[in-house]
Amino acid sequence: PRLVDSAADADDRAVETALRPKDLAEFVGQERVREQLDLVLRAARQRGGAADHVLLSGAPGLGKTTLAMIVAAEMAAPIRITSGPAIQHAGDLAAILSSLQEGEVLFLDELHRMSRPAEEMLYMAMEDLRVDVVVGKGPGATAIPLELPPFTLVGATTRAGLLPPPLRDRFGFTGHMEFYAPAELERVLHRSAHLLDVEVDAAGAAEIAGRSRGTPRIANRLLRRVRDYAQVKADGVITREIAARGLEVYEVDDRGLDRLDRAVLGALLKLFSGGPVGLSTLAVAVGEERETVEEVAEPFLVREGLLARTPRGRVATPAAWAHLGLTPPQPGGG
Ligand code: ADP
Repeated sequence: PRLVDSAADADDRAVETALRPKDLAEFVGQERVREQLDLVLRAARQRGGAADHVLLSGAPGLGKTTLAMIVAAEMAAPIRITSGPAIQHAGDLAAILSSLQEGEVLFLDELHRMSRPAEEMLYMAMEDLRVDVVVGKGPGATAIPLELPPFTLVGATTRAGLLPPPLRDRFGFTGHMEFYAPAELERVLHRSAHLLDVEVDAAGAAEIAGRSRGTPRIANRLLRRVRDYAQVKADGVITREIAARGLEVYEVDDRGLDRLDRAVLGALLKLFSGGPVGLSTLAVAVGEERETVEEVAEPFLVREGLLARTPRGRVATPAAWAHLGLTPPQPGGG
């Protein structure tokens, strides 16, 4: 797995529990979402009921699961965690919904990947606090309506636009999570370093933050790798130099690009003079699957303003030439 992948791996999950902020005050950045959510939760607490359903949209690793757990903690409610792909049949969802306690928080990750029948069951549960449990099969099957206690659904999706509008509209509040600024990631890193009992100075944290792709999960992962390096190759203290040398070993460059990202960019510049070139041709040139280039490498390169997708193919930007230290061909020249 890539060090700069924003999705969680097994290694992350083991430490994430320890690093998760426990309340809104501890949660770094995302000022707007935090302020809005704070109001939603305070109001619900004053009324003494379950909080409104909350939809969180944003890239993996930005803190959606963390916020869901904070919602539960702030409401002093239990939380159940599952995801769209884990719910194969509407019956799976019915089983979860019908076992919810009053006020419980249900976190549904990757909401956009839920099956259609489950989605329709969810509409009814969110709006009318009711599910129809189907008993029996074939013509003799009957739907038995079951009342649910008030609960709070926290749904997460990479993009709110992926959800069917009827589902989106049933959330009382939608929070859009943004990528984090370097200064915010530095705060995340100092906090994590403290919890992991690692010594990092300001310049060391800044160095790691700059390579973390705006994503706390990646920042925490890079911190762990640099900690290894500092422990084995130095005195354990993470300075700017140690962070830079450590991440060089893992081929994460000063802007957060890894080997694959640089291979794609390098091929585009050196073999195709910066493009335009078709995706398939580019993929063959770097010896990767088309999907890998398109889904794994390109989104970050596009976001960083290094690569553009045009109708005629992939094109490198002037920033791409500068980043790899290459000179673009002169217009009119060979
Ligand atoms: P998502 O559910 O969006 O994929 P997570 O909530 O699992 O992301 O967060 C990934 C990791 O990043 C966790 O270890 C979490 O502690 C950390 N993290 C995310 N957001 C923040 C934040 N605002 N402040 C501090 N740590 C954060």
